[in-house]
Amino acid sequence: MAHAILIVDDDLAIKESVEEYLRLLSYEVKSARNADEAIELLEDFQADVVLTDIMMQGMDGLELTRLIKEKHEVDVMVMTGYSADYSYEEAIKAGASDFIFKPFRFEELDLRIKRVLRETAFKKERAKLLAEMEQLAITDALTGLYNSRQFFRQIKQEISRYQRYGRPLSLLILDIDFFKRYNDTYGHLEGDEVLQRIGRIISSCMRTMDTAYRYGGEEFAILLPETALKKACVVGARIKDNISNETFTPAEGITESVTISIGASELEKGEDVTAFIKRTDKALYKSKETGRNKLTYSPCTACPEESCPNTPKDNNDGDQPDNT
Ligand code: GH3
Ligand code: MG
Ligand code: MG
Repeated sequence: MAHAILIVDDDLAIKESVEEYLRLLSYEVKSARNADEAIELLEDFQADVVLTDIMMQGMDGLELTRLIKEKHEVDVMVMTGYSADYSYEEAIKAGASDFIFKPFRFEELDLRIKRVLRETAFKKERAKLLAEMEQLAITDALTGLYNSRQFFRQIKQEISRYQRYGRPLSLLILDIDFFKRYNDTYGHLEGDEVLQRIGRIISSCMRTMDTAYRYGGEEFAILLPETALKKACVVGARIKDNISNETFTPAEGITESVTISIGASELEKGEDVTAFIKRTDKALYKSKETGRNKLTYSPCTACPEESCPNTPKDNNDGDQPDNT
């Protein structure tokens, strides 16, 4: 696709000759006679490079450069015949990508435009790669959920948010029941398929502000900001039921299902990351101990359970969770 150039110069002879030359080189070109016209044109015209004179009636090219860089993602090259009055540093500080003295040879202008375009393409590519790498570093490759590294980073952030604003924060830890047996019976690849499907089910049951993590081999964690224990138990119960209703075909003619056990808790005043996770893990362990395929919550210790507003008992869709 042709690169788009906007030329800004109040010297019509220069503006027109540069315009004509760049068109011959297959650039898409538009031009403006002053800064105001350029700003208006840029509202609709997606230029890759703005080539502006410095000395112009009204707003000068350096001021125009500053304004453009505030609003648009575009390279600006400034041209000047007044080398003594304007310095390269001033132009770069204003945000320009290059500085060219008039009179210039058209070939030089073309080469400079191409270099600026190349550098920008390279910077964009590098930023994209960096973002991809950052995403990979926090993603679990098998399920596409966040990994445990991101879990610890996020839970610390959420806990400090809780300390600042006092908003509720809940945590669910999920563990697949008898998963070793499933792997031993059908093989590791079939086990991986279960992990992937569970990842998808968890994602489909969460609200937008919740985040899910593959916390260990066959353990998952869900952080629920702005959520009291009662509501967290409802989300957990929904995930548990959807997983137990899912069917798997690990071998021809064989239908299987799996269940999970869950521990649920809400962060308490003064609790740190380790204590919060430990308490939730303890609730999960209780689910395992008392029969699996169930959710156990860890009630608030701040108030007696009967009067605790967060006690989930009366609101879990008939799925009565145990408490530790
Ligand atoms: P429990 O109900 O007590 O949780 O029993 P369990 O068998 O699920 O627990 P255990 O801790 O004994 O075994 C966990 C199993 O999870 C062992 C391993 O085969 C399986 N596992 C862990 N990570 C992976 C993985 O990445 N892929 C597969 N396929 N299996 C995994
Ligand atoms: Mg397990
Ligand atoms: Mg486990």
